[in-house]
Amino acid sequence: VQLATDDEIGRMAKSFNSMASALEQTEQQRKALYADIVHELRNPVTVARCRLEAMLDGMVALSPQELKSVHHEMLMLSRVITDLRDLSLAGNGQLTLHKHSMDVQVWFTKAVEEFQILAEGKGIQLSCSMERKIPKINADQERLNQIMNNLLSNAIRHTSDGGTILVSLLKNMDKGIIVSIQDTGSGIPAEELKHIFERFYRVDRSRSRNTGGTGLGLAIVKQLVELHGGEVWVESQIGKGSTFSFSLPMKN
Ligand code: ADP
Repeated sequence: VQLATDDEIGRMAKSFNSMASALEQTEQQRKALYADIVHELRNPVTVARCRLEAMLDGMVALSPQELKSVHHEMLMLSRVITDLRDLSLAGNGQLTLHKHSMDVQVWFTKAVEEFQILAEGKGIQLSCSMERKIPKINADQERLNQIMNNLLSNAIRHTSDGGTILVSLLKNMDKGIIVSIQDTGSGIPAEELKHIFERFYRVDRSRSRNTGGTGLGLAIVKQLVELHGGEVWVESQIGKGSTFSFSLPMKN
């Protein structure tokens, strides 16, 4: 029998400690995630329930405005549920992509066009630029739309009247194709950037919920881009704006 030296025991104790603290951290993250989910689901249900109960109590009809607000809460609820389902499927490796050969230029132009009215309505100038001769790629078009929708609606939400958003499509030797969404919005503080792709992470919790976010958009973007074999990243400067970019490999 060979006895462990003090050195070895020290090393083992250290490694057990770090395993225990990693487990503790995951457990804490799991608890925080549950708390966030409960909070997100409870909010819209409570608002809608109260309105409906007021109607039942008084036996009066809801005004169109009140009905609209109940409908809005229901929409929020289904968005959170769909987003959570996607994230949970992705986390279990069960989110399957339906890939087809795609003309990226056609898709890109259409995807940006769909946001023109929304941007104009907020007084934001939305424009796009595209490199020529981008080869076809194999990708799930619905999921690419979801990525683009999340990033563009964020850009619009965080940019004020008079701002601009430039969406570009480029070819890159190493990364494949790159889509960038550059806004002149509020920007994100440097210390927040590393958390921005986490589930339910919001720089300003209360404001973000009022503007219709679920706090899951970027977490989903990250999962979907990575499922395609790509990467997503962000550069931002407070007060100047943010640029979110993602790559998609050309051969997959
Ligand atoms: P949300 O539904 O709250 O928008 P996301 O996961 O899409 O959730 O984004 C997380 C947080 O990142 C947002 O709450 C916001 O604080 C910040 N954020 C995302 N996109 C931008 C942007 N273009 N400009 C400034 N902040 C942004």
